[in-house]
Amino acid sequence: PKTIFIQNRSKDELYTLANTFNRMISRLQENINRQKQFASDASHELKTPITVIGSYADLLLRRGVNNVKHSRDAIEAIHQEAMRMQKMTETLLDLASSENETSIDVGKVNLTQVCENLVMQLQSVYKREILLHKENKPVIVEADELKMKQVIIIVLDNASKYSKSKIEVTVGEDEGDAFIRVKDSGVGIPEEDLDNIFERFYRVDKARSRETGGTGLGLSIAKTIMKLHRGDIFIQSKEGKGTEVELRIPVLFKKTEGA
Ligand code: ADP
Repeated sequence: PKTIFIQNRSKDELYTLANTFNRMISRLQENINRQKQFASDASHELKTPITVIGSYADLLLRRGVNNVKHSRDAIEAIHQEAMRMQKMTETLLDLASSENETSIDVGKVNLTQVCENLVMQLQSVYKREILLHKENKPVIVEADELKMKQVIIIVLDNASKYSKSKIEVTVGEDEGDAFIRVKDSGVGIPEEDLDNIFERFYRVDKARSRETGGTGLGLSIAKTIMKLHRGDIFIQSKEGKGTEVELRIPVLFKKTEGA
């Protein structure tokens, strides 16, 4: 009976091993596919501004620069697309570096203070009101301050790009988590797009996002950074009514879990 037991066990083990191996292979394949998709999306995104720049430059060359208005329009368009490309390459580098990172530089961070400072600074950049709701007791967490600031800026930038009225920020703590909520009453996101919003390069309205200088990479970077904190980002939205983004991280950073 002992031999049978061992035989059985090793069969089980072989089975488990084969299963694990298969799972690893399919995960690798998924990663390879994702990388391929990324390369093709990235080159597509960069090609568009290059085409625009090329055709306006061509127009200027063929028509000459005699018509001042036309020349100005063309140069403006070239300038705008060049800026967009610059922003996109910077953001892509940012994304690559945040995705390659497996650890973050964790220290004590006063999230309430961080929100207060960012709200003050960005109010004057956006030239509009941002309301901050906070408790008397500051929310102190273990986090990477620079990275958390980056995420909050991404979310506030979106609120400002996709809405016209006031923006509300709430910072607080519940059940061992710290949260920051950013609410706007802007254009909102259609329900069918909500699942894709964290995909790289995904934009609900490509034309509108292009006008607002969007790259479709912001939320993807935000998600990566929140996951590095063992936290997450959630979005609730109603088309035409507005959007609320919630950033959540454990107050205490758990070192042992995950990568
Ligand atoms: P982008 O650079 O285009 O803003 P993001 O990854 O930050 O890229 O966001 C992806 C898309 O999600 C945006 O293009 C926009 O369609 C939608 N979105 C994000 N935040 C908001 C918001 N607050 N209100 C409405 N739509 C939003």
